[in-house]
Amino acid sequence: MEARLIDELRRLLARERVLTSPEELAVYSYDGTFLESKPDVVVLPHTTAEVASVLALADRERVPVVPRGAGSGLAGGSVPARGGIVLGTNQMNRILDVDTVDMVAVVEPGVINASLQAAVEAKGFFYPPDPASLKQSTIGGNVATGASGPRCLKYGGTKDYVLALQVVLPGGRVARCGGRMIKNVSGYNLSQLFVGSEGTLGVVTEATLRIIPLPKARGTVLAVFPRLEDAGEAVNAILGAGVVPLALEIMDQTAIYCVEQYLHAGLPLDVEAQLLVDVDGDECSVTQQLQVVSDTCRQRGAREVQVAADKAESDRLWAVRRAISPSLGRLKPNKLGEDISVPRSAIPEMVRRVAAIARQYDLLIPLFGHIGDGNMHPNILCDLRNPAEVERVQAAARAIFDAAIGLGGTLSGEHGIGLLKRDFLPQSLDPNALALMRQLKATIDPNNIMNPGKVY
Ligand SMILES: Cc1cc2nc3c(=O)[nH]c(=O)nc-3n(C[C@H](O)[C@H](O)[C@H](O)COP(=O)(O)OP(=O)(O)OC[C@H]3O[C@@H](n4cnc5c(N)ncnc54)[C@H](O)[C@@H]3O)c2cc1C
Repeated sequence: MEARLIDELRRLLARERVLTSPEELAVYSYDGTFLESKPDVVVLPHTTAEVASVLALADRERVPVVPRGAGSGLAGGSVPARGGIVLGTNQMNRILDVDTVDMVAVVEPGVINASLQAAVEAKGFFYPPDPASLKQSTIGGNVATGASGPRCLKYGGTKDYVLALQVVLPGGRVARCGGRMIKNVSGYNLSQLFVGSEGTLGVVTEATLRIIPLPKARGTVLAVFPRLEDAGEAVNAILGAGVVPLALEIMDQTAIYCVEQYLHAGLPLDVEAQLLVDVDGDECSVTQQLQVVSDTCRQRGAREVQVAADKAESDRLWAVRRAISPSLGRLKPNKLGEDISVPRSAIPEMVRRVAAIARQYDLLIPLFGHIGDGNMHPNILCDLRNPAEVERVQAAARAIFDAAIGLGGTLSGEHGIGLLKRDFLPQSLDPNALALMRQLKATIDPNNIMNPGKVY
């Protein structure tokens, strides 16, 4: 990138918020995947006006801009594959308002999800979207990826909580979309266009999010299944019995094995799956729901069912689930984390097919995730230094996508497409819908400066 443009950026932002040293650029060259590519410069704006000035310069000079929150993404979305400017939002991190009458929180994009949760809960309210990365990931990143988490089974994902967004568009125009009200059908729902747009349309600089009253009680059940298929069937049986759990998470045998190697918690290694089920509501309904979940799991073949006696025990059960991601690195140095999502009716078959694909390609593919809503994370463990294994990984990834799409599902439930799944997108979308997306992108970003090369 030309020195005169760096100088201009330094005039627009304070000098110390324009980073160019090789060490600083390295920090902004990767995300939660194994992809890596350096930007030419990193800018750390403090205000919407500063973001607008950077986007005006970038549009005029046709320089790529890659918005970046915490860089915890799992699709390569914030990796600057074509160099240019990484625009980090981590210094725009103020919670501007938590209003318990309008029931909204207004935040800057760099606010960490867990900080928002804490601020809202301090006032007796609840912001449900809870990606497992909630202690790292930003609300801007959550909005841009359409992030979800275990609690989204009952309460919905980020998209269900976005009421309004302030977005800086290429060229530097600032658009406010939506408002603080629950009902709003004045014109197109533009805020939702930006949810899940992965930084390809503009930079989110403020989000107005719905909050809801905090449920009073919560309980946890752990059910251990000798047969994986029974666990898959139990998921639909629990929902069919009228209980919509707060969270319904699966770990298959390989995932249990990985965590046991990591935590040495005495997990059962001779079973094919375990389900972790959380329910919430008032005390009475929680007791009832725990009973229904326990009975249903037993009827569907669970060998052991444990109801957590208190919050400390529930936390211990959840610590096992949260240890999955860190534990995977113990078995193989790399992983390709998938994020397929299938209709509920197809859950048992998808679970079967992932196990068959692991056998066919002789790979370790632990499967875990938010099985209650059909969103699963088969993680293909591998060593990228082994070319033969990489070929099998690519074939297995394609087979998993094919299976998900064949069962009426999709490539990504919550992580997005980014760079990692870009080449598979046409297979997963209606051609006219894909063409419409491309038209929208060309209209909003005619010079293709916003996160070019991602998604499409
Ligand atoms: C251990 C681990 C667990 C995870 N668990 C989950 C999970 O349970 N559920 C889930 O959904 N995801 C999960 N993720 C993935 C990731 O945390 C989410 O995608 C998260 O929303 C990314 O937020 P971020 O701030 O890190 O964004 P980044 O990774 O920095 O960026 C992600 C994308 O958003 C764009 N972007 C970021 N900020 C803005 C902005 N202000 N305006 C416009 N575009 C922007 C970027 O360009 C990029 O395309 C997990 C990741 C890890 C590492």
